[in-house]
Amino acid sequence: MANGLRCRGWRQETLLRMLENTLEHAERPDELIVYAGLAKAARDHDALAATVRALSELDENETLVIQSGKPIGVFPTGPAAPLVLMATSNLIGRWATSSHFYELEQRGLIMWGGYTAGDWQYIGSQGILQGTYQTLVAVADEHFGGDLAGRLVVTAGLGGMGGAQPLATVLAGGVALCVEVDPDRIKRRLDSGYLMRSTSSVDEAISWARESVAARKADSIGLLGNAATILPLLRDRGVVPDVVTDQTSAHDLKYGYVPAKLTAAEVAALREQDPDELIRLAEESIATHVECMLAWQDAGAVVFEYGNNIRAQAAKSGVDAFRIPIFVERYIRPLFCRGLGPFRWLAASGDPADLDVIDDLVVRNFPDNPLVARWIPLAREHVPQAGLPARISWLAHGERTRMALLVNDAVRRGELKGPVAFTRDHLDAGGVSQPLRETENMPDGSDAVSDWPLLNALLTSGSGADLVAIHAGGGGYAGYMQSAGVTLVADGTSAADDRISAALTADTGIGIMRYADAGYPAAADAVRESGLQWFG
Ligand code: NAD
Repeated sequence: MANGLRCRGWRQETLLRMLENTLEHAERPDELIVYAGLAKAARDHDALAATVRALSELDENETLVIQSGKPIGVFPTGPAAPLVLMATSNLIGRWATSSHFYELEQRGLIMWGGYTAGDWQYIGSQGILQGTYQTLVAVADEHFGGDLAGRLVVTAGLGGMGGAQPLATVLAGGVALCVEVDPDRIKRRLDSGYLMRSTSSVDEAISWARESVAARKADSIGLLGNAATILPLLRDRGVVPDVVTDQTSAHDLKYGYVPAKLTAAEVAALREQDPDELIRLAEESIATHVECMLAWQDAGAVVFEYGNNIRAQAAKSGVDAFRIPIFVERYIRPLFCRGLGPFRWLAASGDPADLDVIDDLVVRNFPDNPLVARWIPLAREHVPQAGLPARISWLAHGERTRMALLVNDAVRRGELKGPVAFTRDHLDAGGVSQPLRETENMPDGSDAVSDWPLLNALLTSGSGADLVAIHAGGGGYAGYMQSAGVTLVADGTSAADDRISAALTADTGIGIMRYADAGYPAAADAVRESGLQWFG
């Protein structure tokens, strides 16, 4: 085992390292903001210091309780209970509005954790990379004969999650033209290797893109500017992309989407002095932005929303934005029906050699999963590492449990230098209800039923997962979502075998049952194959 234990056990130490790792990847570390405009890892600096202290003193038989990023207390719960339980930004329905959330946020009473920042599961842009890649591959399969070579993808937003778009497009063989208003974000993606080149000239960007498309050469171009200004310019110059989406933080009009023609300083001043005007200007710009996406859709482009609520924001201005489909329903849900989703692991030792051992193990043991067979070699070659060595790979119900048990055994036999944490995005079969994203247009109309992620959290908690979190939407997402997060630590013990078997089986098990219950035959097949008792 690696040295440097600061806690009373490796399970606690691994969770502490995940918290630190999340902050290491933060887009605005001084404010503890990790990604998605306002998604934080701790309420404030005092709460962060108290959390670190609590984790270092936490006993194996205790549970640390965290409310919206602030540690509340420690309870004696026993060896089979989670070490950490969290509830983050949950508001009673009638009060679950952006304005009430912001009011509480200003008073230091609440925090939004996004999906993976609040529960310390963030691994940087890599966390969404395979999901973006899988989406683009599904687009290529359906619309372009299985190949994005010679195809232009136009999008905006190169932040924590959006920063994955250029690399995902290149890995799928296409040409990405990504509009980003903040030069520092462009530089960060260039430095990390996620983006290949950048310019502030629209004409230069068009000419580079056309050359690479003609040569069928994978390429990624960052274009400095505001999407609401630049997209109409591209359209007026005759550019018709093959694929259009967006990953600006359009869900949050106070802290996220930047209105056209405003400088960063003007945005900051308006946020303080007249937030309603800032929101009005953002809505105006989003209407222009989405009108342009619709014009490209009418011209034959494949257009989809990538989960940033931009359609709902544009619809407020009367734009017919819901003509644009959501990516989950269109391209990803068939995978959720089999429990396939963004499973991830982090090597707590910090040693990249541990990642190699696990990469070999997953490729060797899951030869029949085409997503794994295609992704792991690509990720090994192209995905830059930062922070704790981490990997994401879409594994199905049953596969995740088997994989984590194999890794726990490798830890036990000393083949790895430290424990390994297993976790996932909340964007997963069992983890979330979001009626404008993951659960839009469910066949039985159950889009907004949030019982499922709540049951997921209860189940994984009852199974003794190391960390369980219940998140709701905050900021611009207040009232829009309910999700659950889970982390398991494989520390090589037989107790970890038990926790992994129960919690990972429960996590995706309730997911495939949710889709089976909604009427998806593929999910019903997956449930039957799982051997779980089901009353469907
Ligand atoms: P982020 O806040 O880290 O980055 C957003 C980026 O958009 C910033 O770099 C910002 O400068 C840029 N931007 C804002 N307004 C712009 C404009 N008008 N023109 C050009 N650039 C502009 O957010 P993120 O973590 O990258 O997430 C982006 C969005 O995607 C959020 O709404 C988030 O909720 C959503 N999201 C979707 C998924 C998914 O799986 N589909 C996952 C995570 C996040």
